[in-house]
Amino acid sequence: MPIIASEKELSVYENMAARFDVAAAKLGLDEGFQKVLRHPSKEITLYIPVMMDSGSIEVFVGYRVQHSIVRGPGKGGIRFAPDVTLDEIRALASWMTWKCAVVNIPFGGAKGGVVCDPEKLSRRELEAITRRYTAELLDYLGPERDVPAPDLGTNEQVMAWVMDTYSMHVRHTSTAVVTGKPLDLGGSRGRREATGRGCLIVADQALQRLRLNREEQRVIIQGFGNVGSIAAKLMQETGYRIVGVADIHGGIYNPKGIDVPKLINHALEAGQISGFPGCDPVDPMQILFQDCDIAIPAAVENVITSHNADRIKARIIIEAANGPTTALADDILAEKKVFVVPDILANAGGVTVSYFEWVQDRQGYFWSESMVNERLEQMMVASFNDVLGYAERHNVSPRIAAYMLAIDRVAFALRLRGLYA
Ligand code: NAD
Repeated sequence: MPIIASEKELSVYENMAARFDVAAAKLGLDEGFQKVLRHPSKEITLYIPVMMDSGSIEVFVGYRVQHSIVRGPGKGGIRFAPDVTLDEIRALASWMTWKCAVVNIPFGGAKGGVVCDPEKLSRRELEAITRRYTAELLDYLGPERDVPAPDLGTNEQVMAWVMDTYSMHVRHTSTAVVTGKPLDLGGSRGRREATGRGCLIVADQALQRLRLNREEQRVIIQGFGNVGSIAAKLMQETGYRIVGVADIHGGIYNPKGIDVPKLINHALEAGQISGFPGCDPVDPMQILFQDCDIAIPAAVENVITSHNADRIKARIIIEAANGPTTALADDILAEKKVFVVPDILANAGGVTVSYFEWVQDRQGYFWSESMVNERLEQMMVASFNDVLGYAERHNVSPRIAAYMLAIDRVAFALRLRGLYA
């Protein structure tokens, strides 16, 4: 039975909502609660004026969407990209609510973004955008309110500016207002690697379920930023063969395997992965459809759609990116018997260690890297088993199971809290 019967691909938010509707119906969630949980609780649009290096003034559009604070403070990254839309941030905020509930951490969901191209901005211009964005959101952010983190186009430095701006206004250093910070400013060991490490953990779990070996797995990764490059490195170190990689500028493919540490150095020097010796060039949007056993989208949304899902050759998809597969493509992948580890589970390693960072900041006591990685592994494996167990019990896909598990947990908390009127 298809999730939606229309030929039209949906917007990013509509793709989230399509899965929400199916999962909520399967749970028998009452109509009123469905209305509450389908929509965000707050959406803020900002117009951020910045004096550019040229002396001219530009105005950048920014967003912060808080989907739910039912289980705890809002949690979610800040995205800097030229094509950011409110629809996309709204979807990403909802996914944060479901993701935090899937791994059972005491956060709600939020997400932010600024329409800008960080590759074309100077460091000073980026800092100005970040500080003004943070200052405008002062009433909404805070360790107990809403805790941002890095996402596409943002990094530890941007988080340091968010932390400093917030701290200057509240008149004390508040490290727990943001996660993904540099280690010296209250960051957590293992946070930078956490999302990629989480992908490795769930890939291993998927192999166990399917009785497959790491050594036989040829892996392709779209996106070579924080998540993609670290997933590639950790997976190669543990025996997987990385045969294809792409960033926004281009893709490369080598069936014999790519030396990931050398590729990371090449990308640092050249600013892109294209031109890495010994590989065939591939269009970045075609990389996931090359011959491989595991495909890992780790870049942007809506890259596996009803128009191309039949061209997937992989047996397993690990959704490192948020929303890489459209709702219509789900059915095609299911028919092909592709084992999909859904985004709200597969990339939850990042928010899990963000939670550890928030806990460490509030305690003022910092953990060793091995402790972080051990606890991450325990939580990811437990969540993987929760989701797969739910899928078997309810006879649904792992994606719908992950939504059902998450919605059930959030609805339970909402029922206990009640509606304040
Ligand atoms: P990043 O900015 O560090 O890297 C993004 C990478 O994707 C870059 O290599 C970029 O060139 C590439 N890219 C962008 N558009 C592309 C395209 N059309 N085709 C091919 N490559 C393209 O971002 P990131 O932090 O690695 O995030 C990647 C994805 O993972 C996003 O969907 C993000 O929401 C998701 N995610 C990130 C985290 C985290 O901890 N950083 C956590 C959970 C989910």
